[in-house]
Amino acid sequence: MTDNVNFNDIAVLLVAAGRGSRAGTELPKQYQSIASKTVLAHCIDRFAEALPGAKILAVIHPDDIELYRHAIQTVSADIQLLPPAIGGATRQESVLSGLNALHEDVVKYVLIHDCVRVFASDKLIHAGLRAAQISGAAIPVLPVSDSLRKAISSERTAPVDREGLLAVQTPQCFSLELIHSAHVKAAAAGRKDFTDDASLAEWAGHEISTFPGEAGNFKITQPEDFMRAEAMLLAELADIRTGYGYDVHAFGPGDHVWLGGVRIPHGRGLVGHSDADVGLHALTDAILGALADGDIGKLFPPSDPQWKGAASHIFLAEAVRRVRARGGMIAHLDLTLVCEEPKIGPHRDAMRAEIARICDLEIDRVAVKATTSEQLGFTGRREGIAANALATIRLPLRRKEA
Ligand code: MG
Repeated sequence: MTDNVNFNDIAVLLVAAGRGSRAGTELPKQYQSIASKTVLAHCIDRFAEALPGAKILAVIHPDDIELYRHAIQTVSADIQLLPPAIGGATRQESVLSGLNALHEDVVKYVLIHDCVRVFASDKLIHAGLRAAQISGAAIPVLPVSDSLRKAISSERTAPVDREGLLAVQTPQCFSLELIHSAHVKAAAAGRKDFTDDASLAEWAGHEISTFPGEAGNFKITQPEDFMRAEAMLLAELADIRTGYGYDVHAFGPGDHVWLGGVRIPHGRGLVGHSDADVGLHALTDAILGALADGDIGKLFPPSDPQWKGAASHIFLAEAVRRVRARGGMIAHLDLTLVCEEPKIGPHRDAMRAEIARICDLEIDRVAVKATTSEQLGFTGRREGIAANALATIRLPLRRKEA
């Protein structure tokens, strides 16, 4: 398939309705973060990259609407992400709910995928789509390589001949009409127990074709799978860069300052075109520096009236968006504020939390430090506040354009 193909009659249905936690306390796997993005967001990005223009629909648990909203914050606005469908009591009901949501659309083919498989390759996805376009129903399979045994009782097992046995993966790829009518037929017949869509389609009388699965297309289920997935994702982000940012704002009249995204009551304010948050400005420039993407003054010119009094989290969020648009992540942010007043210590953790929130980062990737300049220089004379920042980012080796 060429670069110019638009996949706008294709939909990807991501099954994300499972709660998947034995203890019931831990976050469902699709909403856990690896390499700075949720498993679900990695999966959405993967399919959007393989199938530009395709519609992507997640089916989620009714209790997870907030989790979902947060999980997709990193997803680019260019991706055709449909509003989520609400899943049912079983996987089968959840898929039907998603298919019903797609049915009114212009979609001809649907790829039904377990959202905890984040490494489906372009080759696998395109092979599945081609197979479905030919046969109407196609699934990826892999020969079983381990020896197999079957439990007979609690003590006894017996060998199983693995000859001819195949493990089934996703995406399972179908004509939408075929799989939707098969699901409707199964629901009408009271069948609720199909664990995958191929067996359901087969029950409804359709032949299933196969295409080669991939060992790398594994499900993230156990803790060791998370470690393996994170190592693989970080290995793709091997262009590691550090950027530096510096900013100063002078004190002026006022009763508060904004520092590190936190409003601190103070006898004076900071003078600036925006809210004069010297900390967020330095961080923004550090990230832009790591991207070699200009500086805050170029992106948000003080001459532009729309930035007058602007909240500086807008600037920082835009820098972060640029990192994500390049397929990258922020590995670490380190901010040092230089001032005699106000005291930073009591607000340090609030600043870290706010910066982490703006950048959608874990808090242990954000450092805020403070120092005085021993009453020397302009900061020592309490004329203003200076800020220094470092940003470490990771970008894919394979260059993506923002
Ligand atoms: Mg500034």
